[in-house]
Amino acid sequence: MNRELVFVVEPDAGRVTIEISQVPAAMVDDLKEDFGSHMSVNCGRPSSRPRPSLPVLHSDREISRRDTNGFSIWLYDLYHNSTVDGPGRRSVVKVSGCSIRCEGCYSRDTHKRANGRIISISEIVAEIISKRDSHDGVTILGGEPCDQPGSVAELVLRLKGHGIHVTLYSGYTIEQLIARKHPAIDYILTHIDLLIDGPFISEMRNGAGEYRGSRNQRIISLQTDQG
Ligand code: SF4
Repeated sequence: MNRELVFVVEPDAGRVTIEISQVPAAMVDDLKEDFGSHMSVNCGRPSSRPRPSLPVLHSDREISRRDTNGFSIWLYDLYHNSTVDGPGRRSVVKVSGCSIRCEGCYSRDTHKRANGRIISISEIVAEIISKRDSHDGVTILGGEPCDQPGSVAELVLRLKGHGIHVTLYSGYTIEQLIARKHPAIDYILTHIDLLIDGPFISEMRNGAGEYRGSRNQRIISLQTDQG
């Protein structure tokens, strides 16, 4: 059994987050006693509760006929306080729609775009900014973000305009993304801070390392002097 305990210490906020995996209940009780006051943040991959109420741009009937423009996006979920989707505590934008369909994917509900909703990017950014003091950055995942390159590029542009650290997950490798020579994808790759790339391969899931689902996936720092 691989027991894991990860302590995330935030001296400025006077807060400690403990990420635990396969730890016996008695040890959890000991930790609660040792640390005093506490709250449960999430379970593995955080739930979306409380879920912000974002306006839906179109009715369900319209969604089936329409696609996004550059100022809206197919969104599956938006949640806060994740400590498993990139460094620190993160707000997470989870898009719907994935053309990759990895075998054993843990997020199959996101595969169909229509399982999400078309949401205004302005509303997403406003929600994230309203939580600015309680996160260290934003993670964009899915689904497959690079299946909506124009919308994701617009989201990245606005988040970086607010100086927010952006991590993006893609089931494509960075080499595949560059080879597409798509202006919006090029924009994304030259403006995000971290890319976690590659498909999920279930045979390689053991020992994947932090933030990743399988060992083939890489954490690629793309930080440059973006002026
Ligand atoms: S790219 Fe991600 S969401 Fe898509 S099938 Fe693979 S693991 Fe699932």
